[in-house]
Parts: sequence; structure tokens; C-alpha cells
Amino acid sequence: MIPVRGLDGTRVAVLGLGRSGLSAARALVAGGAQPVCWDDNPSAREIAEAEGFACADLKKTGAFEGISRLIVSPGIPHLYPVPNPVVVAAWAAGVPVDNDIGLFFQSFATSEWDNFDIAPQVVAVTGSNGKSTTSALIHHILEHVKRPCQLAGNIGRGVLDLDPAVDGEVVVLELSSYQTDLARSLTPDVAVFTNLSPDHLDRHHGLGGYFAAKRRLFAEGGPDRAVIGVDENEGRFLAGQLSEGPTDDRVIRVSVETKLTGPGWQVFARKGFLSENRKGKQIASVDLRGINGLPGAHNHQNACAAYGACRSLGLAPKVIEAAFHTFGGLPHRSQTIGEADGVRFVNDSKATNVDSAAKALAAFQNIRWICGGLEKEGGLDGLATATGSVRKAYVIGREAAQFAMQLTVDAEVCGTMEVAVARAVEEAEPGDVVLLAPAAASFDQYDSFERRGEDFAAQVQKVTGGR
Ligand code: ADP
Repeated sequence: MIPVRGLDGTRVAVLGLGRSGLSAARALVAGGAQPVCWDDNPSAREIAEAEGFACADLKKTGAFEGISRLIVSPGIPHLYPVPNPVVVAAWAAGVPVDNDIGLFFQSFATSEWDNFDIAPQVVAVTGSNGKSTTSALIHHILEHVKRPCQLAGNIGRGVLDLDPAVDGEVVVLELSSYQTDLARSLTPDVAVFTNLSPDHLDRHHGLGGYFAAKRRLFAEGGPDRAVIGVDENEGRFLAGQLSEGPTDDRVIRVSVETKLTGPGWQVFARKGFLSENRKGKQIASVDLRGINGLPGAHNHQNACAAYGACRSLGLAPKVIEAAFHTFGGLPHRSQTIGEADGVRFVNDSKATNVDSAAKALAAFQNIRWICGGLEKEGGLDGLATATGSVRKAYVIGREAAQFAMQLTVDAEVCGTMEVAVARAVEEAEPGDVVLLAPAAASFDQYDSFERRGEDFAAQVQKVTGGR
């Protein structure tokens, strides 16, 4: 645990008593502060009280008297679509609003670090897609070189649940826009921006607010090095803002669309090869083809971003390349789960929106595509240009018929995963890929995208008999 520093002897309000709220409360106590907790859900309060935390209704008049800070959980709207009334009360009382990420950054460094040979560092990853994969890949590479490292944030552990740093440690954090929007301290040593596409627009009042939330990671603390995906205007804008000029190599530009040139520092992937250029010269090249854990251009983007971050930490190209080959990929993200009779089965249940499904569809040939579920705002228009490699779609979900009607490929309404997998296997020929990339949320049939992916894997196992 990271005990919270700088708030000892004060009362700190904690709103939301899920995983991050409870771990904030514990870290506050460990640092000598007194948490005052609240959650509108009585059963969440019961759990907190059972652990010995005091709960008080923070909506009540005067609740913020003598409170030094309000810590808000990421699931609770702090501004849009409408701010939570407790946040409004904190504003009215002039109490600063923060989250566990802000507490982490203000508390991580300690005087013990004076005795270390190598100061611990934090790499923080944000962006619309690929955050988890990129964070996990950076962590995997660090483990490969036996560097002490920990992974936390949106992936893995809560940030305040991390162990205090040891000599030379690197902490890799995956940060969502909700987290970067609210944190009062954001001081990573290396910050990574993967890409930007519309998401969570209600919570940020549109794309501008969403980008502004992510941009804080780079603007607030000023990381020593920023690794920025420049395939969208927002990335190009951000890279330009952070650098003094074309030769400034504090910014590493990343692309999977353009062969980047110029006197600065660039990492790009084209036709399956990653290139690193610096000061106008090629420094290294890595063949990404055939790395099973990183299929498709979207994963090549993640590979470039992770490569840039690890080069910033001083790792050599060859060791990064070797680590790529042992990366297994993350569950439910373009993950090969099996092969039978020449047919490959790929689980990308995390492709809950059109953009990520399109990336998965671009990564494979001869696709038998299992898709459908709860459609997201914006419709399926973006898919029309992405389905060139689809042989046939097998549509699941409560509104499967309606979903199938909007597709521009041959589509069969299957309804359930069981039927979809059975039909796809029946029709598949050697060389085909049965790909689950739903382009929709799972909540009409499952609790989560993970359960949906697990069902896919179970059905595949059933039909292929584990061949
Ligand atoms: P995040 O943590 O940002 O949600 P993940 O690594 O969990 O990202 O991937 C989420 C989804 O997006 C998966 O369907 C995955 O295959 C797809 N994806 C992964 N990397 C990228 C990328 N760089 N660009 C677009 N889509 C991606």
C-alpha cells in the first residue's frame, strides 16, 4: 500500500466505496488522515463500516466543514452529464476535489529514495484504445529484462494498493480519461498517448472535453518524455504543443499510417515492420509479423508505443524485440484461443465499439465474424469499410435481426453464442478465422465483455472438442 502523504491529521471525504474508494480510505488511514466515507448504496456503506470506516451523508448541509479534500471514484460523474450533488457541495464549501490517482502521485516518492541508486519511475498510458495492451506489454518487457516493476490503474491493482517502490523500480499505470480529468497531481516520468476516437462523450460533454481530459496527463506535470500516437489530429496537436521544435526529442512520435521522417525521434510500423528513427537515421528495425500476441495494425501501434516507452527507459531494441515474442496478449483482445482443422479462433470480446471491431477485422483474412449485442450510439456506419475480409457474419444479441440488417456482408441471425459458434464452425474451411469482435456492448446477454468472451471460448471448446 502507498500511505497518503500530506493529509495527515485532516479529515478527508471519500465518495464511492467500490475498489478504488476503499483502497483510498485504507491508504488515507495509513498516512494518518481520517476518512469520512459515503456511497448512496447502503450495502457498499455496510462493507466500509464493517472494515471500521466512518460513514456520513456528504449531501447533508455542513458535511464539508473541516474537510480538507474530497476523493471521488471514477464511476461517479464530477461534471457531466450532471455533477454528483456531493461534488457540488464540495465546490460550494471550497474543498478541493481529487481522486486516488492524485493521491498516488503526491505520495509515491519518499525520503527513502535518497538511498536508491536509481530513482523509481512512473510510466502512465492513456488513449482511447490499446491502453491495457500497451500497459501490459510495457510491464511484460520490464519483467523480461528483470527490472523491478508493478502494473496498476485501470488494469490490475488500484494505484494506492501498489507496494512502495524499491530501487530502480518502474510503475506502469493505465489511466482512463475519468482518472486523468480529476487527479490534482499527474506527474509521470514517461507519458504515453495511444490514439483518440470518440468514447465516453456524455461524461466529457463531447470529443473536445474527452481529449482535454487525456491531455492533462501531459500538460499538468510535464513528463520527461512523451510517446504520442500521431495518426489523428489530436495526437499531432499534442506532440506539437509539447515540443520546442522538430529536433526536440522529448517527444517520440508514433504512427502506423505514415513513414515518419525528420530530425526528431520517431517509431512507426509499416507492412509489419517497426522502425525507430532518430536524428534522421534509422536506429533499429523489428519484424512484427508472426508475433501471435500482437496481430494487426492496431497491435503494431501498441507495440510501437510500448517500444517508445521502453526506449525512454533506456532499454535496448534487441531486448524489447525478444520480449515482444513472448507476449501472450491480453484475454478478450485479439486473443487466439485455439485452432482446429486449420481454423483459428480469436476472441476480441473487448471490441465493444465500432472502432475497435474495425481494427480487429483488419487484422485477419477469411473471417467468420461473430458480432452483435447492445449497439452503441453512432450506429454501425463505420463498419461498412472494415468488412472486406469477412466471409460471413453470425449475429448474436437480443436485437440480432435489427443488427444484421445494418451489415453490408452476408449475415445470419443466430441470436445466441452457442448457435453462432456452431454455425461458424460448420461452415468454416481451413484457413478461416472465427473472430468474435461484437462491435457492441454485451449487457443485453451478459454481465460483462469478459463473460461474453468466456462463453465464446466455452462454445468453441464444446464444438471442437478441444482439438
Ligand atoms: P483499452 O484499455 O484502451 O480499452 P485494450 O488494450 O483493452 O484497450 O483494447 C480494447 C479493444 O480495442 C480491443 O478490442 C482491442 O483489440 C482493440 N485495440 C487494441 N489496441 C488498439 C489500438 N491501438 N487501436 C484500436 N483498437 C485497439
